[in-house]
Amino acid sequence: MISVKGLKKKFNQLEVLKGIDLEVGKGKVIVLIGPSGSGKTTFLRCLNALETPSDGVISIGDEKLDFSNSITKKQVASFRRQTGMVFQSYNLFPHMTALENVMEGPITVKKENKEQVLSKAKSLLQKVGLGDKLDYYPFQLSGGQQQRVGIARALAMEPNVMLFDEPTSALDPELVGEVLKVMKDLANEGMTMVVVTHEMRFAKEAADEVLFLDQGVIVERGTPEQIFTHPKEARTKQFLSLIEQ
Ligand code: ADP
Ligand code: MG
Repeated sequence: MISVKGLKKKFNQLEVLKGIDLEVGKGKVIVLIGPSGSGKTTFLRCLNALETPSDGVISIGDEKLDFSNSITKKQVASFRRQTGMVFQSYNLFPHMTALENVMEGPITVKKENKEQVLSKAKSLLQKVGLGDKLDYYPFQLSGGQQQRVGIARALAMEPNVMLFDEPTSALDPELVGEVLKVMKDLANEGMTMVVVTHEMRFAKEAADEVLFLDQGVIVERGTPEQIFTHPKEARTKQFLSLIEQ
């Protein structure tokens, strides 16, 4: 479903991603861990074409972008539709209700029929446990509820892949579980997912593979068992000793 080859990203002189290679099969869940500043967000933003890589090739579904060539806006737009992104800070439109937030993309970007979008948005909000909050504005919702609206909003675009950038790290601890549950349900339904998170339980229960990123390179990768219980690299061991509860 996803193929990344030789992905590099520079911000001016600073090379943040130094040649990432990754294959993700359909329905697989990849968890990305690594220290602050290692390039996790930049990597997800490249997968969503929010950043333009300096070099490399990314294929997602039927779309392929080769960043050693010039790329048109149209190519970027259809590429971006392959993925849905969930941000740490929810990024909901504050002046729109939960329902309007979920309906906005399919109507304005995909020009879908309004009646159909309405029923799709209602069922997505139902699915994330917010069927009774359709008309609530973001400020009337808890962080966990806002993040679940964020997930429903991304799903409304019917992406092939869901990208999550530390989706629970801004939440109070008691609200983390409700968001992780929605994510686990999605994984169980066969959604292909790339998740940046330091929630070890989620990684252990849902990930097919865990990648440890440091200074723009994948230092180590393996099953959750391999990475968390038998890490090989000193840098992985040191990082895990800092985050494990
Ligand atoms: P992480 O998500 O792992 O904490 P990031 O991908 O956010 O890491 O950042 C990796 C590095 O890239 C950091 O050194 C950060 O300062 C730098 N960086 C990220 N975005 C930009 C940008 N838009 N301009 C310049 N530097 C950036
Ligand atoms: Mg980040």
